[in-house]
Amino acid sequence: MDYAPEVIAARLLDVMEKDVLPLTHQGVNSGAKVFGAAILKKSDLSLVIAGTNNEIENPLWHGEVHTLKQFYERPGEKNTKDLIFFSTHEPCTMCMSAITWAGFDNYYYFYSHEDSRDAFAIPHDLKIMKELYGLDAGGYHRQNAFWKSFYLGDLVAASPEARRAALQDQTARIKTEYDRLSNVYQSSKSANAIPLN
Ligand SMILES: [Zn+2]
Repeated sequence: MDYAPEVIAARLLDVMEKDVLPLTHQGVNSGAKVFGAAILKKSDLSLVIAGTNNEIENPLWHGEVHTLKQFYERPGEKNTKDLIFFSTHEPCTMCMSAITWAGFDNYYYFYSHEDSRDAFAIPHDLKIMKELYGLDAGGYHRQNAFWKSFYLGDLVAASPEARRAALQDQTARIKTEYDRLSNVYQSSKSANAIPLN
């Protein structure tokens, strides 16, 4: 897999907007959080599966783990070395371990842990890292013996100028929609039974 940054950024932004967001609309309407994920083939960047958070059913069904659950329940290819993992938000420690145990050698994410804390009022990722492992924000190994992780904003920034503006426009459009969904979740969360809501 050797895609130019603008190619992979454009494809993942499209998947986030057109495949993950519609599922997340439904999820947030059911009372779940805004976090989603998708799995794509490295060979042609086609979508294998998209998913979203379902903590209303089970507090372990974060967007990533719920997507992996559905990925393994469906028939078809399961060689994760040939696949890309995309997470709308930088995975929590449970999810990054799940991605590791599933054998992926990569993940890409749109929002950082700091965004989850500051823009989404979900501080649990960073708090768990600090309380369990003593790590501050940015303190884990974003590249390690198992995988490399990539922040989508870095790929957009590395894109050629002729393509960058369109990618930045799409990024802004996606953020506006997530802000709206986050407000819906935050205003309803006092009524749910999710342990870390
Ligand atoms: Zn998680």
